[in-house]
Amino acid sequence: MAEVCLEGLTKRFDTELAVDGIDLAIRDGEVLGVVGPSGCGKTTTLRTLAGFETPTEGRVLIDDEDVTHVPPERRNVGLVFQSYALFDNMTVLENVAFGPKMQGIGKTERRDRARELLSMLDIDALADRAPETLSGGQQQRVGLARALAIEPDVLLLDEPMTGLDASLKERLRTELSGLLEELEVTALYVTHDQEEAMVMCDRIAVLNDGSLEQVGRPTEIYERPANRFVADFVGTSNVLPATVENGRLDLGFATFESNGFSETTDGTAVVRPDDLTLGAGPIEAIVRDRFYLGNGVRIRAELPDGESVIVGLDRTAREVTVGDPISLDLEVDRIHVLE
Ligand code: ATP
Repeated sequence: MAEVCLEGLTKRFDTELAVDGIDLAIRDGEVLGVVGPSGCGKTTTLRTLAGFETPTEGRVLIDDEDVTHVPPERRNVGLVFQSYALFDNMTVLENVAFGPKMQGIGKTERRDRARELLSMLDIDALADRAPETLSGGQQQRVGLARALAIEPDVLLLDEPMTGLDASLKERLRTELSGLLEELEVTALYVTHDQEEAMVMCDRIAVLNDGSLEQVGRPTEIYERPANRFVADFVGTSNVLPATVENGRLDLGFATFESNGFSETTDGTAVVRPDDLTLGAGPIEAIVRDRFYLGNGVRIRAELPDGESVIVGLDRTAREVTVGDPISLDLEVDRIHVLE
């Protein structure tokens, strides 16, 4: 276990500014997610923490020790990548015991440690198999066991679920999340999948174009996005022009009273699809699209001014069809207004 601190981290590749002055701390035993669009600097941040890249500016601290110029093999970080990079000429057990072997740990101890991890990850039956005979999900577990075998201070995971099918991903997410919690390992988890980050991580950092837009618990990021970029990137949102005055939220087409609004603001309201409810309410709209998602129904409803909102409905809302006039209400206390 360890604390990690990235201080003013900047990484430039020639003219490309990949990471732009990021300040970020990972607390002891915390899983910190890093999300953001393709090319925003997630992998570069991870690689700098691992020691594969030297920052152009800034420092990397692990447990208050400045490791900015310490090579990767002396940082005691475990790595799990999208391509599991297992050694094909070794069995699963040998793969997992390889790291401890490099650390100079005796044969019996390193094999015991490997077996213990395989059993923890429920893949002990695969110990003598060759990696190429395993499924993607099995390889992913072996990759994780191998990273954990060195008893790393920090575990770095870069898109570890990519390439796995949706149902396996969902199962592994829950398992992996429980395992990381049990091991109390300090981890950086890079993913472009925000839902995965919500499930897996204690806090999430949102990057955009090399800069840190917000860091917070999943609920903070989702319910109190710091700005328009975060509101748009994390989950579906309707971003509507809004005025707040005397405890009243005015969306132009309807107004709502709430104790939650104390200040006077001109800005934009972040309305999540499930903040809108079907039934008697002041918002009149026409259903323009309807999508059945299995666990619910999404509709696109056109407002009187021609703008549209996305509404999340229960899957029992079968009666709603395209062309229907509907009334919507707003869970006004959940609404976050950006200045
Ligand atoms: P993705 O989700 O697509 O993997 P990312 O958020 O992980 O993206 P990075 O791989 O960190 O993004 O890349 C950030 C920026 O730095 C990109 O514009 C990329 O082209 C650039 N970059 C990364 N590595 C190098 C390199 N070795 N040489 C030059 N440019 C690089």
